[in-house]
Amino acid sequence: MGIVEHPLGSTNAVETGSRPEIAVENPATGEIIATVPNRSASELAEMAARGRAVQPGWEALGFDGRAEVLTRSQKWLIDNQKRIIETIVSETGKAYEDALLAEIGYTAGAFKFWAKNAPEYLADERIRSASPFVKGRKLVVRYAPVGLVGVIGPWNFPLTNSFGDCIPALAAGNSVILKPSEVTPLTSMLLAEGMRECGLPEDVLQIATGDGTTGAALVELVDFVMFTGSTATGRKVLAEAAKTLTPVGLELGGNDPMIVLADADVDRAANSAAYYAMNNAGQICISVERVYVEAPIYDEFVAKVTENVRGLRQEAPTGPGTIDVGAVIFPPQLAIVQDHIKDAVDKGAKVLVGGGSRSDGGRFIEPTVLVDVDHTMACMREETFGPTLPIMKVESADEAIRLANDSFYGLQASVYSKDLDKAEAVARRIEAGSVCVNDCQVNYTALELPMGGWKDSGLGVRHGAGGIRKYTRSQTILVTKFAFGKKDLHMHPYTAKRTGFLGRLLTFVYGRGRSKS
Ligand code: NDP
Repeated sequence: MGIVEHPLGSTNAVETGSRPEIAVENPATGEIIATVPNRSASELAEMAARGRAVQPGWEALGFDGRAEVLTRSQKWLIDNQKRIIETIVSETGKAYEDALLAEIGYTAGAFKFWAKNAPEYLADERIRSASPFVKGRKLVVRYAPVGLVGVIGPWNFPLTNSFGDCIPALAAGNSVILKPSEVTPLTSMLLAEGMRECGLPEDVLQIATGDGTTGAALVELVDFVMFTGSTATGRKVLAEAAKTLTPVGLELGGNDPMIVLADADVDRAANSAAYYAMNNAGQICISVERVYVEAPIYDEFVAKVTENVRGLRQEAPTGPGTIDVGAVIFPPQLAIVQDHIKDAVDKGAKVLVGGGSRSDGGRFIEPTVLVDVDHTMACMREETFGPTLPIMKVESADEAIRLANDSFYGLQASVYSKDLDKAEAVARRIEAGSVCVNDCQVNYTALELPMGGWKDSGLGVRHGAGGIRKYTRSQTILVTKFAFGKKDLHMHPYTAKRTGFLGRLLTFVYGRGRSKS
């Protein structure tokens, strides 16, 4: 068992490595498919030292050199997609298509996006200032890599949710240690191997397989922590990082509402609700977790969703097109989802489809539609993170907005209406970092768009300029080329004459403000 020494000698030691190895299970079959090391704190410290040693060389390659490796990695990913999908499916039990679209599709795009856009997002910025004190000076802001980034990944998207953060961190010139979830480490190991084949220097990206204690130990070894997972663990990471003032990004849970207004295209709204609640078996932070439908179309909407969900196929996946809804990836998640369904039923909800579960070999929750739900039920106010869709009738858009905002979370939401101005006005009143009108989730594929949570859903953003600048330290440089004399007017000693002149100067510069009216 290892102990992490705080670099400044404090006592916040974290114990790790209580199990020497972790067994990796296929959640759709219950079969153990591999074992991986549970990295100890001393191993992590060695990894951190190696990562720091190689980082300057990686940074020195420049944007073009790093982009070459990232672009080759994109091609490697596409060339090896079958093998990667098989690995993802084997450790998650998800449908082949959920791996193809949301993992291969996203990550292939991410390699190219960050290779192409990192130079622009991180280019030196020439600043013009209104301050009279810096007139004539050169003012520059530059973005330097922080050094060593720790990425702590979840189990729902072992490729997208871990490499989606590793890639921009690497593009910025950092080295990275990725701690994948203990239940899905194999995809990360495969990708790291692939990137090395594509020319990523040894130790620039290291995979620290391990459990939660390994994640906790990583926090104080790195210069930035990017965490994706539950709000509860996110708080622990933030508290741990506070001890060393290590900056963090947190992408946490969501309880994403969909609002369907009376003038919506009911078919599109119903198909969207069914798909975006059930894809990846509902194990997506931006999945539709609850729906509010205006009364005039409620019955039609519920009928269409019910028919759609009733037709979904659920089994252990055996290849493309064989199932629609996969397994429950994380063992304790089964009980969470079961509890939410039971809690709703106990409080008066009706199950229209599904409701059952099984854990004989594989772990599955049936795609489930619930009606007669209200906000006393956990499924409406907490993150269920499973293939469930509770639908609630509302009398107005105002009521829908009030209920949508009655949540600790604020990650993502959607609004359906043919009146786009009205829908956008509703979107602007929802407390969430991203809101789609007549769509769901596809905003995540546009890496130009910042993606981050309000309220308990997170801190900071993925994607866009903010999604890479967080892996850097900004440095401001001021260069004085020409100075008037050996000494500036405002320097000591103060004299009444110069003070009078400076006062008149300030009045001249700032005293001419006029109101617009
Ligand atoms: P966690 O937040 O506990 O796990 C996320 C990652 O953090 C994993 O790699 C985990 O390791 C690691 N970890 C665990 N404890 C610590 C710690 N003290 N310090 C640092 N890292 C740690 O999520 P769970 O897997 O427990 O999932 C629970 C809930 O989280 C779900 O019900 C869902 O609501 C939400 N969730 C949200 C996701 C999102 O995309 N925002 C993704 C997954 C879950 P290990 O797995 O080895 O324990």
